[in-house]
Amino acid sequence: MSCRDTWAEVSLDAITHNVSLFRRQAAAACRIMAVVKADGYGHGAVQAAIAAKAGGADYLGVALLDEALRLREAGIKLPILVLGYTPPSAVDLAVRHDITLTVFSEEVLRELAARAELRRKPARIHLKMDTGMSRIGLTSTEDVIKIVRQAAVYSPYVVVEGLFTHFADADGPDPGFTERQYRQFISCIQALESRGVSIPLKHCCNSAAAMRFPYMHLDMIRVGIAMYGLYPSDHTRLPNYPLREAMQLKTKIAALRQIGEGDTVSYGRTFRADGDRVIATVPIGYADGLSRSLSNRGSAIVRNRRVTIAGRVCMDQTMLDVTALPDVSVGDTVILIGGEQGKESIPVDEVAALMNTVNYETVCLIGQRVPRVYR
Ligand code: PLP
Repeated sequence: MSCRDTWAEVSLDAITHNVSLFRRQAAAACRIMAVVKADGYGHGAVQAAIAAKAGGADYLGVALLDEALRLREAGIKLPILVLGYTPPSAVDLAVRHDITLTVFSEEVLRELAARAELRRKPARIHLKMDTGMSRIGLTSTEDVIKIVRQAAVYSPYVVVEGLFTHFADADGPDPGFTERQYRQFISCIQALESRGVSIPLKHCCNSAAAMRFPYMHLDMIRVGIAMYGLYPSDHTRLPNYPLREAMQLKTKIAALRQIGEGDTVSYGRTFRADGDRVIATVPIGYADGLSRSLSNRGSAIVRNRRVTIAGRVCMDQTMLDVTALPDVSVGDTVILIGGEQGKESIPVDEVAALMNTVNYETVCLIGQRVPRVYR
């Protein structure tokens, strides 16, 4: 329950629709992992997971074991893969709650095997191969083979369910590096198969690769940003993926004032009125994820019209120049991200460009104190 007149509206139908596009394009046997890390890219992990399942997702991906545990606490039963590193001290929780871990070190494998033995429960793992991100993962086919062998030696409870890699540039203009990473990944799979090792779930595609390179889908695709209706880059705006943006950021006018020529607005006095102006104050600021870089540049939609942010965005409040709106009043709804009022809309990409960042960061930054409202 929130007393705030600021909220992020999330369309679960849009998430379901976006995931169903991938379900339709992928082969029937290809699984769809919905990536709901970082609280579902700011949309709410639990609700996003449920909506994604309705669209055909059969696996969930998170960055941290903590995030996986929150999903289990909320009653989510789908398999969950922790895509990032999990310290050995925490692996027992993964076994207990049936959470699949990414493994790329002997130390973690050894501890996981010991915990699985103690609990007499399967410990599912996906091995991570680094083919060019230089972030996490085993760097050679020999290392992958070694870990697979060790898993079998340590415990029959360790199930090597998956092998994956992550693309560094799948949304970029030149597919060359992605193709190189893919070839390296395939040659590792072939080396394993030639030694009689078959791993059921081999996966490498994020949203961009899943959309652009269907031949790379393999056994599963990992869809993150696109399930929220956002394109990883302009190179991925393909006609067979008509995505629908899931989030709208809204607030209401809390106060209105008239100012005259020479009056200034907000910290640093960077907005100076060149005549009579009407200024609206909205109860949202950079602590909510409305970046300070939008000061004097960002837009809002009020009464079907675009207006501009006046002066610096404060921590909790922001002012708008609403002089052009004759009937504006306290309590009017203001859209900061998204659309709906009339023909106007403010796409996440537009806000991200003004913030000098990507749409991923813009939605992730929308703070926890902004209540999410689902529709
Ligand atoms: N797979 C891994 C390992 C990731 O780290 C991410 C996101 O960063 C994804 C998949 C999803 O990527 P995207 O949001 O570009 O679809």
